[in-house]
Amino acid sequence: MEHASARQIAAIPHYAEQGRECTLFEQAWRQRLPVLIKGPTGCGKTRFVEHMAARLGRPLVTVSCHDDLSAADLVGRHLIAGGDTVWCDGPLTRAMRTGAILYLDEVVEARKDTTVVLHPLADDRRLLSIERTGEQLLAPPEFMLVVSYNPGYQNLLKSLKPSTRQRFVAMSFGYPAPALEEAIVAAESGVSPAEARSLVSLAGALRRLTDHDLEETASTRLLVMAGRLIAAGLDPAAACRAAIVEALSDDAETVAALAELVDAVLAPAGAAR
Ligand code: ADP
Repeated sequence: MEHASARQIAAIPHYAEQGRECTLFEQAWRQRLPVLIKGPTGCGKTRFVEHMAARLGRPLVTVSCHDDLSAADLVGRHLIAGGDTVWCDGPLTRAMRTGAILYLDEVVEARKDTTVVLHPLADDRRLLSIERTGEQLLAPPEFMLVVSYNPGYQNLLKSLKPSTRQRFVAMSFGYPAPALEEAIVAAESGVSPAEARSLVSLAGALRRLTDHDLEETASTRLLVMAGRLIAAGLDPAAACRAAIVEALSDDAETVAALAELVDAVLAPAGAAR
């Protein structure tokens, strides 16, 4: 069972830089240092890695980690094919052989045995020992390990151990500043600058809420989704309810309160349009 995608990205995916993260990432790649990206869901981590892989001309292998993902899922396993046993590389091994950028999204979800293979890879040994075949694979200079996780989840059992964390150059992502987020939402969804502004002010209002027990708040991704529905002709309040409010909560009272907030924030913008 493998949840990986490998691709050479032809055009460079659009990424609006928040600070100097592109330079930092490029220098880390040149210095052969692994990178850890922390940040809430939907704030642009994946897009950033896609952008950088294309910019550096490297294939990107992405693995969405889950609680069943084991070291063998990453490294590879023997498979029976036509009566023969054949070795099949996993995404990690494949990424190393092709000098790709390997992106382990939500790495804290993976099973603990994965750290055993990641540790020698994430220090200056840059080595993968494939126990089952006896192969010792050295990472080529172009190979890079990138992991991400969301430290906002209040799940202490699922954080990275210091011994793992201290092998990575780390960068923290947050939601983009309002002017940048407006430009992103407009460019990604096709809404007008005024519509992008009201979506970003709605996100600001939702992100300031403290009296609802929301696990996560409105991400840039949700704003882009709402924007796409609006650009396609849907009424803005209906679009925000479907793309933002319903995505944030299953609790009927919370959904009603958030929907009221949507109406309150969008009404003046709608009246002004
Ligand atoms: P994450 O990996 O952090 O969950 P994504 O990278 O998938 O988030 O971002 C979600 C969506 O938000 C992207 O598909 C893109 O449309 C938009 N987005 C967020 N940040 C940026 C950015 N800085 N530049 C361009 N698009 C962005």
